[in-house]
Amino acid sequence: MRIDCPHCGLRSNEEFTIKGEVPKARPDAEAGQDAYVDYVYIDKNTRGRNVEHWHHSGGCRAWLVVERNTITHEIYSVIDVQEAQ
Ligand SMILES: [Zn+2]
Repeated sequence: MRIDCPHCGLRSNEEFTIKGEVPKARPDAEAGQDAYVDYVYIDKNTRGRNVEHWHHSGGCRAWLVVERNTITHEIYSVIDVQEAQ
């Protein structure tokens, strides 16, 4: 799999480190312990199209938001995390 870093261009995925799914929205302060356990520890582990955080640890060290298919590894989009906010 190759990832098109917006700063460095097309690179091997071996230069990147995956952090995991882009987190869900943080629960309200009054949401309770179960909502926070779900927020911190439970990932959807989606099969198919997914949005994830990747770190270009072997390159420019930028954090990226990568939308990809976890089955086929097709990449739909790659943007710098600062553009995603
Ligand atoms: Zn890069």
